[in-house]
Amino acid sequence: MKKKRVVFPETVKEWIDARSTYKLTHAQVEMARELGLDPKKFEGIAAHLLEQAKPPLPAFIEASYRERFGKNRPDDIRSVELKLKAELAQKEQKRTLKSLGKAAAKWEAIPETVRATLLESVWCSTCMKTTTITDIECQTINSGLLLNGKCTTCGSTVGRYIEEA
Ligand SMILES: [Zn+2]
Repeated sequence: MKKKRVVFPETVKEWIDARSTYKLTHAQVEMARELGLDPKKFEGIAAHLLEQAKPPLPAFIEASYRERFGKNRPDDIRSVELKLKAELAQKEQKRTLKSLGKAAAKWEAIPETVRATLLESVWCSTCMKTTTITDIECQTINSGLLLNGKCTTCGSTVGRYIEEA
């Protein structure tokens, strides 16, 4: 699988910057997010706390969190980056499932006799002959359908592309 670089949206970047500027932990960042604090205002808050000789920003966030939610830690203390990646992965999975569903529907739309013939006439480069494919998975590629599966004789991975399915 290809690894994609995640480009962080501006809103996530702001939290990453605030985290390093004010030495916040992932949990403190999550607390601040749940409190609805705006990282753009941290500079003002930090200055105000300093002026009042109060504990610094991280302590302020923790105290506000305890006061508002009555607990010391949020449930989800993963980093904002991880949360974003998990969110993107979930979206990607949904997209894949949708495309697999479309491919399956295309495959089912082919008359059964034709499907049987297609399954029995797949070239296996290990057996060096035409074989029957099993354990198939189909996916749509452009206007066609790609079948991936195994050779019933030797178990090698075989595939077949059906144009204009
Ligand atoms: Zn084979």
